Parts: sequence; C-alpha cells; structure tokens
Amino acid sequence: MAVVNRIAALASEIATWRRDLHAHPELGFDVQRTAAMVAGKLHAFGCDEVVTRFGRTGVVGVIKGSKLGANRVIGLRCDMDALPIAETTGVAYASTVPGAMHACGHDGHTAMLLGAAKYLCETRNFSGTAVLIFQPAEEGGGGARLMVQEGLLDHFGVGEVYGMHNWPGLPAGHFAIRKGPLMAAADRFNITILGRGSHAAQPHLSVDTLAIGCQIHQALQMIVSRNVDPLDSAVISMTMFHAGTAHNIIPPTAILGGTVRTLKQETKATVVARMQDVVDNIGRLHDARIDLDYLHGVPCTFNHGQETDIAIAVATEIAGQAHVDTAVQPTMAGEDFALMLEARPGAMIFLGNGDSAGLHHPDYDFNDAAIPAGVSYWARLVELRLRA
Ligand SMILES: [Zn+2]
Ligand SMILES: [Zn+2]
Repeated sequence: MAVVNRIAALASEIATWRRDLHAHPELGFDVQRTAAMVAGKLHAFGCDEVVTRFGRTGVVGVIKGSKLGANRVIGLRCDMDALPIAETTGVAYASTVPGAMHACGHDGHTAMLLGAAKYLCETRNFSGTAVLIFQPAEEGGGGARLMVQEGLLDHFGVGEVYGMHNWPGLPAGHFAIRKGPLMAAADRFNITILGRGSHAAQPHLSVDTLAIGCQIHQALQMIVSRNVDPLDSAVISMTMFHAGTAHNIIPPTAILGGTVRTLKQETKATVVARMQDVVDNIGRLHDARIDLDYLHGVPCTFNHGQETDIAIAVATEIAGQAHVDTAVQPTMAGEDFALMLEARPGAMIFLGNGDSAGLHHPDYDFNDAAIPAGVSYWARLVELRLRA
C-alpha cells in the first residue's frame, strides 16, 4: 500500500487521539469536548485560521499551500458526533459515558482529518487552500444543514467538497465509491388515524383505527412492489404502530411512523404522491380522518462525475487499483454530507473498516489499521487536486 511515509509515522499518534475520542463520545450538537480538542490541535499544528462555533459546535481549519499556482479552495469534511447506544465492545478505551458510544466511527473520521491537518500544516506542498470541516450532529441532528445555512461554503470560498465514511465488510484500507447516487435520501413519516372507538364486542359501531392501520401498512408495501421500477430502489419501512389501551376496546386513534429511502428524486416524488393517495382513499373507504405528515430529510448523496474521478485516482494511488471498487452498490442508508454535495460538486468515498461489527451496532469499533490509508487519502487529495 502506497501510504504517505510521514503519515505512516504519525499513525500511532493518530490512533491515540482516536481512542481518546472513543472513550469520550458526545451526541448531536453537544460535542464541546471533541470540538475543543479539535480546535486545540488545529491551532497547535499551525493552521492559518481556526474557526469555532460554526454551526453551533462545528470547527473549521484553514490551511494554505506554500506553492504558487491556481488558488482553488477545496473542503474536506468529517463528522464528530456519537450515538445513543450502550457500548458492548469491552475494549480498554471503551466509552466512559453511559448510553453513548462512537458506533459509526466518527471518532476515526475526526482523528483522521486531524492527522491530515497535521501533515498538511507541516508540508504545505500544494497551491490554494484546504478547508477542513469538522461537523457536529450528523446522526439526524442536521449539522451539515446548519453549517451550509450559516454560509460555510461561501464564507470560506469552498469550490468542491469531499467526504469519507468507514465501511465495515470492506477490507481495512481498501476504498469503494461510485458515480451518481451512493447513499439514499432518507425521509420520515407519521400517519395519524382518527376513527371512532367502541366496545370490542360492538365493532359495527366503530371506525376501527387498528384495522385501518394494518391496511395502510400493506398498501404502502404495494407502492414499492407495484409503483417503483424493479430496477430502481425504494424502501418504505413502517417502524412504529401505536394504538389501543385494553383488550376490550377498539381504539379511536392510531399513530403509525416510519422511514422512506430513495435514490432518485422522481422515485421519491412517486412514493410521496402514492402515500398520499393511500391515506386519502383508505380514509374515504372507512370514513376515518387520516393525516400524513411527510418529513423531508437528507437528500440522496450524489457523487459528481469529475470529482469522483479525482477521488478514484487518489484512492488508487494509495491502495492500488485492485483495492478500489469504483462501482460499489449504493446503500439505502442516509448521510447528511449529501447537503454539502447538493451545494457544491464533490464526492463521498467509503474506506474499508475490515471485518468489524456493522455501523450503529453496540459491538462496532473503528479499525485503527485503516488510519494510514484514510489520512493518506486526505493528504494526497489536497496535493493532487491543488497541484502547483
Ligand atoms: Zn451513523
Ligand atoms: Zn456515520
């Protein structure tokens, strides 16, 4: 593997930072300790500018190259937040915070981008500017959205953005990427059914919200199987069904909830329209009032063509062609880096985490063996894209 020599020498120090972050997970926007550690190190490395409290608790480090040439600005983004999961790994550096853990590897992402910052501040072997973005609240908190809304990309003049996520199941240090949709648009929905309660022995006097909810559940699956092209992808998962209080009462209300995942805007539009048809028509059929509250979440993570080619070239230099999957299957998981890719061209790449437990699993741990490849990717991306 052609990792950068200086980075190989830094790998154990970076792993120490990673394990410290792992032991002290923080949730959502409440990443004060992590952000303070990041800002402290960026200052110590000699970043030209360190901006804190961007997007509430986000941190941005600016590093200017020492070479003359084009004055392009590229953004490298990582996420800092953990998950509300009780850790079961048993590792020596396990979470010291009850009910919270780094189960998505954002400890590794943060440490690797810090490692790249250290290398880039030392070497500055590029022309233009690298903007290192440490984002809070990736796990459903809207961190990327807030940073973009607060003008992150305009303020720093970022022309392109790049992201990286570790990927369990892919050998450590290997890469996987694809042009076009890589990760799904992730939306949520709530359906409230207002019917009429009755004695369970007198169902003819009721408008049975539980029976109606079951029909809605079945009808929603028909959208995926009968309205979406079988060669396209959509997921409708109903994950909540709340109704009823006693064995002998037909409940007057039921509340359902779940998530919708799609890879194309047209598919999402079809699913939303058909969901509305389902609730309207089933409501009419049974004389119930049914409200669909569709909550638009992160859009599809869409990799742009030219920037994906650049990412592939960098990954290939580091891992070798045989260890870079350039046509990986998209995943129906969502990622809020999608909002930065909506605002600027760029690419998201997966970094192999080896044979670990899956993301968001209590046994998951970021694989430190991937650090040299991940940090080298960031460093060489800057040096190649901002070549003098
Ligand atoms: Zn996650
Ligand atoms: Zn994640």
